[in-house]
Amino acid sequence: MTRLLAGAYVATMDDAGTELANGWVLVEDGVVSAVGDGQEPDAGERIDLAGALVTPGLVNTHHHLFQTLTRARAQEADLFTWLRELYPLWARIDAEAEYAAARTGLAELALSGCSTVFDHHYVFPRGADGLIDAEAAAARELGVRLVASRGSMDLGVSDGGLPPDDLVEEPDAILADSERLVSELHEPDPGARVSIAIAPCSPFSVTRLLMEESAALARRLGLPLHTHLAETVEEDAYCRELYGCTPVEYLTDLGWLGPDVWCAHCVHLSERDVADFASTGTGVAHCPTSNLRLGAGFAPVRRLLDSGVRVGLGVDGSASNERGDLLFDVKQALLVARGRDGATALSAREALRLGTRGGAAVLGRDDIGSLEPGKQADLAVWRTDVLELGGAEDPLAGLVLSAPHRVDRLYVGGEEVVRGGTLVRADEGEIAREHRVQARRFTG
Ligand SMILES: [Zn+2]
Repeated sequence: MTRLLAGAYVATMDDAGTELANGWVLVEDGVVSAVGDGQEPDAGERIDLAGALVTPGLVNTHHHLFQTLTRARAQEADLFTWLRELYPLWARIDAEAEYAAARTGLAELALSGCSTVFDHHYVFPRGADGLIDAEAAAARELGVRLVASRGSMDLGVSDGGLPPDDLVEEPDAILADSERLVSELHEPDPGARVSIAIAPCSPFSVTRLLMEESAALARRLGLPLHTHLAETVEEDAYCRELYGCTPVEYLTDLGWLGPDVWCAHCVHLSERDVADFASTGTGVAHCPTSNLRLGAGFAPVRRLLDSGVRVGLGVDGSASNERGDLLFDVKQALLVARGRDGATALSAREALRLGTRGGAAVLGRDDIGSLEPGKQADLAVWRTDVLELGGAEDPLAGLVLSAPHRVDRLYVGGEEVVRGGTLVRADEGEIAREHRVQARRFTG
């Protein structure tokens, strides 16, 4: 079946940055088969978008869906204080709560135009089985693509780590469960709806052994590899004390850096760190709202881009960015870059590119992130006749600069996930009600 989305301003995010003022996108069997301007091809179904803006679906490269259960806590805390306050609450997570949290977080992201979500789950209380399976079920239900990760922590407080001892696991169990999830959930081919990444949590919650074993496992299975890195000055000091070097030097020493790796935050990078990221092909998940919320600083995005480093955007967990809205973080990335390096530091188009092509590159996906023949038909449709875009001569810059906006339509693999600003395959009110019931167990 062919479907033509027509009468739109189409921002393709291809290499040349092609934008089509009288644009259309032809979709066939879930894939973009043609994109053009003016004269339209015949199609089984024609949808008139009445002057709306069409962009690729946004790509979120760092998140912790479970944290929707614990919002607005530790409100004036830095990262380590915030973590110490929240770990005991997170120890209550089970599959039922994770499912409610994932549905809420994924619904929020879908309504912000996000079609692909990477989730970094690293809290596995003893006896709480089926957490990643619950996330995958929620993603399939809503229709959003999920890159799930079997995260991990094995360095408890009694061994010099940050998390409480009852939240850390044995390396062998972690690695075995990771392999199980890959065999049960991972779709290796282009167009994957659910895939798996390997993601030990951070240098201050994971042993050197598990960092090394995780990288070996990911490389044996051909999976992407992820961790938190260089988020705060406290983490920097911690690494210097424990390992005698900076976080990036530590990862380099472990043989971690490479084109299959991306790291979240990367706020505190030296010139040499940036060069090492560039020469090894290591990517960065830039999470501006979360970094500002925790007072961590912000990543040197202009410098990273100028050095050729892959950069995507992440909303990060909903306990350090209470809003799971990726378009809002596109705008935040622009504002933060300009606050740091001046008015020309990041254009609206560059910011949107971070949230689409950049995110796809960071996740190692060449099947999403732009609207070109052969790519997955992941499209976000944004109304341009809303109050906030009145008078905006340039629809793309208007969208970014006046964000956030609720997406009008979202297609994932050609399937409709949002229409008229409403979820098609799930009920927003029911998701919020069920989430409130589960979240009650995480208070106090
Ligand atoms: Zn994070």
